[in-house]
Amino acid sequence: MATVEFLNVHKSFGDVEVLKGINLTVQPQQVVCLIGPSGSGKSTLLRCVNHLEMTTAGAILVDGRMIGYDVKGDQLMEARQSEINKRRSKIGMVFQNFNLFGHMTALENVMHGPLKLLKAPRAEAEAKARGLLGKVGLADKIGNYPSQLSGGQQQRVAIARALSMDPDVMLFDEPTSALDPELVGEVLEVMKKLARSGMTMIVVTHEMGFAREVADVVAFMDNGVIVEQGAPDDVLLHPQHERTRSFLARVS
Ligand code: ADP
Ligand code: MG
Repeated sequence: MATVEFLNVHKSFGDVEVLKGINLTVQPQQVVCLIGPSGSGKSTLLRCVNHLEMTTAGAILVDGRMIGYDVKGDQLMEARQSEINKRRSKIGMVFQNFNLFGHMTALENVMHGPLKLLKAPRAEAEAKARGLLGKVGLADKIGNYPSQLSGGQQQRVAIARALSMDPDVMLFDEPTSALDPELVGEVLEVMKKLARSGMTMIVVTHEMGFAREVADVVAFMDNGVIVEQGAPDDVLLHPQHERTRSFLARVS
């Protein structure tokens, strides 16, 4: 079974259709990189996966089921919020602006999900959080508050926090776009390691080097559609469509 399946997904904001029939399959352990110009719908597509946005037509299946909806007869009904929260816990999300809890240390940020949502015992949550912070190279920063960390360190805490819930898939929305250039590499390294460990990932990124090296599939989005998708070298080096070519010429 695919880990994430987008089936003819549409999304409108008012009269404006921003996703116009997205079809994409993410297999277990695959890394799919979504590239495309600003405003093309990449963030909206990611946000629909964990039901931060409602779709207007089509369906997204995560491990074979919808996060935000239940089927009632031949209708889709929005699921209860408590049920959505439960289903969502298997999806890790990392945002451009880190979104850490500012009043919590790095360790507390990473312990928060297991403590509050999984009701894990404190000692267990702490041991796990220490392990994850070690994995992202922050064993010596566990007591620091976000304001005492660089952007790259904050983003690595955010990745550890998402991993604390043992997600089946990790969604990254331009995780390095807010970082000073010299801090981008440390975050991409953590993401590469995660990919090599077999994590299923959807990554919105402008880092073409990362996409080329790590992705199994690159999908180019423009104006609410996936213009082309395929192996990184095919899409990035031998694009079939003029829109892809002109985008790549602008970003590289
Ligand atoms: P990208 O991430 O590729 O830059 P987005 O998914 O953020 O693109 O945006 C796609 C389009 O949807 C844009 O035209 C944007 O203005 C619009 N949009 C995004 N969020 C909203 C919203 N909450 N309300 C209205 N329009 C929105
Ligand atoms: Mg975006």
